Amino acid sequence: MTMVRTRFAPSPTGFLHIGGARTALYCWLYARKTQGTFILRIEDTDILRSTPESVAAILQGMAWLNLAYDEGPFYQTKRFDRYRAVLEQLIAEGHAYRCYCSKERLEALRTTQLKQKEKPRYDGLCRHLTESQPGPFCVRFKNPAEGVVTFDDLIRGTVTFANNELDDLVIARTDGTPTYNFTVVVDDWDMKVTHVIRGDDHINNTPRQINILRALAATPPFYAHVPMILGSDGKRLSKRHGAVSVMQYREEGFLPEALLNYLARLGWSHGDQEIFSIEELVEYFEIKDINRAAAAFNLDKLLWLNQHYLKTSDPAYVAKELLWQMARLGVDVSDGPPLEEVVRVQCERTKTLQEMAERSRYFYEEVQVNDEMKRHIVPDILPALRSVRDHLASLSVWTKESIHLVLTETAAENGLKLGKLAQPLRVALTGGTVSPPLDATLFLMGKARVIERINKAAAIC
Ligand code: GLU
Repeated sequence: MTMVRTRFAPSPTGFLHIGGARTALYCWLYARKTQGTFILRIEDTDILRSTPESVAAILQGMAWLNLAYDEGPFYQTKRFDRYRAVLEQLIAEGHAYRCYCSKERLEALRTTQLKQKEKPRYDGLCRHLTESQPGPFCVRFKNPAEGVVTFDDLIRGTVTFANNELDDLVIARTDGTPTYNFTVVVDDWDMKVTHVIRGDDHINNTPRQINILRALAATPPFYAHVPMILGSDGKRLSKRHGAVSVMQYREEGFLPEALLNYLARLGWSHGDQEIFSIEELVEYFEIKDINRAAAAFNLDKLLWLNQHYLKTSDPAYVAKELLWQMARLGVDVSDGPPLEEVVRVQCERTKTLQEMAERSRYFYEEVQVNDEMKRHIVPDILPALRSVRDHLASLSVWTKESIHLVLTETAAENGLKLGKLAQPLRVALTGGTVSPPLDATLFLMGKARVIERINKAAAIC
């Protein structure tokens, strides 16, 4: 039995976007499921648009998502000798030819064809040349003139293209550099790729690639063309719909598990199940269960999944991502409660780590006097604030329970409902009206900081 070999083949012309990440995930899942091999190939032959920063961004995105590759990264720019050799082979065997047509001729041809309402295509003038000519040339693949190319797409079923719809494709430019459809073929062939899982924007390239593979006497791989991701307005997902880069999702406070789960489900299903561990995904994933129709991105669902993972993942693990967020905010967490404890109290009330970080700053940073404080810390409440401070200061055991008791007893002593004391106290300690339960907040903040903040707040009125 042939072992499955899949590949993810991004062009490094930008960050890793979520459409690419989903394709990578499907390739990775299928390789893991079948104990096959997952290859990473960087398609960087477009020298003008490819950048080392994009390569780094793609590798960083894959690493953060934990999509480890077994082979690669292979760089197409390092394989030019190989492409040249295959090009020579195709020319020698009569499957490709040098085309000397000038830009002007091709332009004029195109104009005439458009005028005659024909699809613009190369007319094959140089196809039958027997002698080399002087002057610059590109190399074209001699596409079969008749018949059809048919393949069984693993998602769409049988797909057929008429050969007369496909003209003689340029496989090497005038400067000798190979073109996309050609390098992909050579690579998929050399890397013994068995399953090409990629976006359906490539479906028109597939018959061309199959024809070139056949000319090389290579067996074409299986193809699976994944429908694109749409924005909520039904248009192709793009920046104007919000974040499209994987790392931007990290910045916005998503856990990789949530994004992977979301992307897996966006375009694939296993019954009605919504939440999948990575192990379950590997177990259940089947290419045939990828949806044929394009799916729309739904941020609310991703947020829901994210909160699920914030609540159910190991707090020590979540704390690592929270630390990253805190560092982004410039918050030094060395003086304050362990982040793991913060995760435990905040995970119920925040949907992203960014939100969690923003709402936990007061555990580590000074609270500045603000309007909320001026509204809540009023002369009437001072006696109660002072008495709660004194009771707290005299506590010998600092636990949630002992703190809770002090809060309820002080409120009663001062003839207040607990809420009437709790809210000004919360504002004094956190600078705002929203926090985890007060006993937990005080406990995590620590006695010294609590006393200091009550004193500071009391001084404002
Ligand atoms: N490099 C192509 C892209 O980024 C993908 C090619 C392929 O998967 O065959 O769109």
